[in-house]
Amino acid sequence: MDRILDTLPQKAAIKHGENKKFLKRLKKKPPKNLDYIMQELHEREFERTDCLKCANCCKTTGPLFTNADIERIAKHFRQKPQAFIEQHLRIDEDKDYVLQGVPCAFLGADNRCSIYDVRPKACREFPHTDRKKFQQISQLTLKNVGICPAAFNIVEAMKEKLTNDGRTRQRPESRR
Ligand code: SF4
Ligand code: SF4
Repeated sequence: MDRILDTLPQKAAIKHGENKKFLKRLKKKPPKNLDYIMQELHEREFERTDCLKCANCCKTTGPLFTNADIERIAKHFRQKPQAFIEQHLRIDEDKDYVLQGVPCAFLGADNRCSIYDVRPKACREFPHTDRKKFQQISQLTLKNVGICPAAFNIVEAMKEKLTNDGRTRQRPESRR
């Protein structure tokens, strides 16, 4: 996994132009069954991905914390939300609460999350490859393929599937 993570930013940089074009086209004209396709690709990828051998998202980029996240996690620590904020969070340039630093303070040496059951919504949903209307988060996806090896593979599988499906659909017409 270390080797995969070492080379991931470079691989993502090489694919950036191609991915950008593909995601732009997808946004303009998403297939009707995109939610279903994404669910399938996401599940297939995460069946063979062991996040405990990776944790790159927790090590290199933190989640944003919603007010509901802050209240839930502070309650878990029996803290007042303000005390939790002062201890762990800062406000970023988009005015969102984010971690004061990475790796995340809640990440253990064994790559386990010490607040797993109450972790932020953004952590639960990362890398967002099974979310509905996936075409709407192209900027985020372009960034995430350089962080998450699973997201990288999902976008590669997606390009292959949608390009092949397009060819299959076009074939009968091209014969006429
Ligand atoms: S979600 Fe992606 S970056 Fe995070 S631990 Fe799993 S494979 Fe690694
Ligand atoms: S809260 Fe847990 S899942 Fe989220 S970044 Fe920190 S260690 Fe990772």
